[in-house]
Amino acid sequence: MRKALIRKTMLGRLAIMAGLLACCTHVSWSQARLSVHWEELTAADFRSAIQQSQGTCLLPFGILEKHGPHLPLGTDLLDVRYAALHAAAEEYAVVFPEYYFGQIFEARHEPGTIAYSRELQLQLLQETTDEMARNGCKKIIIVNGHGGNEHLLPFFAQSQLEKPHDYVVYVLVRVETPPGGPAAKSTGPDWHAGEAETSTMLIAHPELVHQDRAKSESGADLGRQKLPDDLYTGIWWYARFPNHYSGDGSLATTELGQYKMKAWIDGIVKATRAVKADQESLKLQNEFFEKAAHPLETRPQ
Ligand SMILES: [Zn+2]
Repeated sequence: MRKALIRKTMLGRLAIMAGLLACCTHVSWSQARLSVHWEELTAADFRSAIQQSQGTCLLPFGILEKHGPHLPLGTDLLDVRYAALHAAAEEYAVVFPEYYFGQIFEARHEPGTIAYSRELQLQLLQETTDEMARNGCKKIIIVNGHGGNEHLLPFFAQSQLEKPHDYVVYVLVRVETPPGGPAAKSTGPDWHAGEAETSTMLIAHPELVHQDRAKSESGADLGRQKLPDDLYTGIWWYARFPNHYSGDGSLATTELGQYKMKAWIDGIVKATRAVKADQESLKLQNEFFEKAAHPLETRPQ
């Protein structure tokens, strides 16, 4: 009996010790830094990550398209992910995995371009943000990395008013580099795989830059359309830059890249903080949807 009692006491102590150990291990797990990568989190850690991010998630949006003769097809995807992941490490947010299903019809004549249909682009983006929101991302910042999306994304954001949503889509179309950095050498347009973009790629993935090939094709503006500036056509880009190259990548430097990439990361951090602090947009959306259901009862405020 006594032996049994001692055994029982020892077992009890062991159980308490095991419990303490589990508790401490649990504490150190939960105190460990959570990954900002959606795909690296466990299901339980994802719950904590959404809490820590206050429901703020980033959707870095890239593309697959030719980038002159010297940069990889995924330049925009690689660059925007580099910037978004660094920003999220500074101001915590959950970052959605690789996304490159945007507007790039104008490069369909070049190898390696993936151009999904207009309908699929919108449907996939809607279902992606819906699914993100269903998982707690009530504030979604689409961080754009591709010039060809600059009309698509504001349209997508506007179309969120089509029917009620319990989340807000914010679009960071582009972050302007503030003046004061290293002087750029380009004199003409430098819009695609040129000095600026090659410089940022020298920061994000220098091993993928073949700068020695940058002059093997022309990135000059051919200006083949003779139309007033306020007339828009889909063929304007091809009319000006048929090689899907604008500028001169051979002029790129790591100094310019560092300056531009830092500005981009700072811009995403600033946007994330503003979105976290924003208590108005969802409230206004809800008010709007309520009124939109009864327009005849809506009175001026
Ligand atoms: Zn690009």
